[in-house]
Amino acid sequence: MWVTFRRGNPDATYSGGVTGLAAGASTGQETGWDREIYSQDRAVDTEHDVELLLAFLNTRDVETGTDVLDDEAAWRAWVAERGLGRSGDPRHAREVRNALRVAVGDREEQHGSAGVVGMIQIELSQGVPTLAATDALSGVLAAATRLAVLGYWERFKICPAHDCRWAFFDRSRNRSRTWCSMQVCGNREKARNWRERARGGALTV
Ligand SMILES: [Zn+2]
Repeated sequence: MWVTFRRGNPDATYSGGVTGLAAGASTGQETGWDREIYSQDRAVDTEHDVELLLAFLNTRDVETGTDVLDDEAAWRAWVAERGLGRSGDPRHAREVRNALRVAVGDREEQHGSAGVVGMIQIELSQGVPTLAATDALSGVLAAATRLAVLGYWERFKICPAHDCRWAFFDRSRNRSRTWCSMQVCGNREKARNWRERARGGALTV
């Protein structure tokens, strides 16, 4: 990742603070700092980042067999809907998306060959260093970086159901959530296990 430091960029399409760094937060850990001292604005920014990253990870939908990044017009529309600026090459976006899916635990994903590269600038916004994106892809990467810095990376997970693999954000207190939805994938898996046990039992009768 290239990082440039410059003051203000009129082309920047998406930005947000990384003040979690100053509080000693690190990847994969609970930050431990008192959230109450942070403004409602910070929570809204973080929620926005979570939604953006999840939407990007789920641009490929295994259940329906569709991929936004297979179609340049669909990718442009996805970017425009979110006001992320220039859409760029969907093939590059797919490599980055696949690499990010591997990074959050998708074992069945084909790893993007080019690695994760994006142009993110660090700007001084009202005297505070912030990550600023130059296009849609770097907007997503800036969001991912902020979330990692704030200690939320480990909460991004991939549903292990083979025909689902939906990316979700685990909001449980001890990060124990496994399935995207207990009502759908979790119960389906339970039912399958129960049937297999029942079959096993029948054989021993
Ligand atoms: Zn699922």
